[in-house]
Amino acid sequence: MNTSIKTGIDCLTECHFCPHECSANRYLDSSTGFCRAGTSYAVGSVCLHRGEEPPISGEYGICNVFYTHCNLQCVYCQNYQISNNNSPTVEEKLSVDELSERIIQELLKGAKAVGFVSASHMIPQTIAVIENLRSKGYSSVFVYNTNAYDTVDSLRILEPYIDVYLPDFKYSDDELAFDLSGIRHYKTTALNAIREMYRQKGSVLHCDDDGHALNGIIIRHLVLPGEIENSLGVLRTIADEISTSVHLSLMSQYNPDYCRIDYHQMNRPISEEEYEQVTDAFNDLGFRKGFIQELSSLADFNPDFTENQPFD
Ligand code: SF4
Repeated sequence: MNTSIKTGIDCLTECHFCPHECSANRYLDSSTGFCRAGTSYAVGSVCLHRGEEPPISGEYGICNVFYTHCNLQCVYCQNYQISNNNSPTVEEKLSVDELSERIIQELLKGAKAVGFVSASHMIPQTIAVIENLRSKGYSSVFVYNTNAYDTVDSLRILEPYIDVYLPDFKYSDDELAFDLSGIRHYKTTALNAIREMYRQKGSVLHCDDDGHALNGIIIRHLVLPGEIENSLGVLRTIADEISTSVHLSLMSQYNPDYCRIDYHQMNRPISEEEYEQVTDAFNDLGFRKGFIQELSSLADFNPDFTENQPFD
């Protein structure tokens, strides 16, 4: 483990929390890091979200913390209002107590889990919030919802804090990752990260009697139009390098309205035939546990973060 990484906010003077390894001083007003995030608890929304996999959402929804900024800049991101590193449209800067209080308000509505969405650039802040909630007696299930562009070192720091990992293994094709998300070496980086999550959690998704996830990992994959070889490569990589016993979640919700460049076939939703090829591969490769999103789900995931409840 890289001992130069400390968990305190102070280590943000020279940030190495994600694979960009920028060494940025995040105390500066305009941080020079790729994510351009500072040291605050900057959020786009703290809200109940019912759109995750059933064991994650539960009956009342998960309390999701949507941080602003991101360590990827995917050209088709549906959360662009908050993930844009240059100037998020919606952003609130909170203290750790204020963020904890907002989370507690959602937990009081019945949520059993707290999800930190795209938090790879917010590791020390996330740990501080979890410690704060635990100190107040809230021992919820904590979910790390990530694009999988994480370092193994950061995941080891998170190990005592995270109950469920929800990584989206986005690309097996590094060229596609560069064209659509502007990063190099995604496949190896994400695979190493997911291997570490799997080392921590194994194949079993532990649930309570009501089916709420308590501990484990669900690997997601968003299928992109015209890029089926990329999806098949992701499934083959998981089968060959991790396990076919792990829970997989195939997502069909790609929405071309969010795509901001003219690229191959990204101007349309995925087709039924494309999705069938990927779901067939899920079965043929021997995966047996997981979730396959309905193809009609596209209309259900069009968040507007200028609203109090972005997903309603
Ligand atoms: S978290 Fe941000 S500043 Fe830190 S290494 Fe990653 S992109 Fe750079």
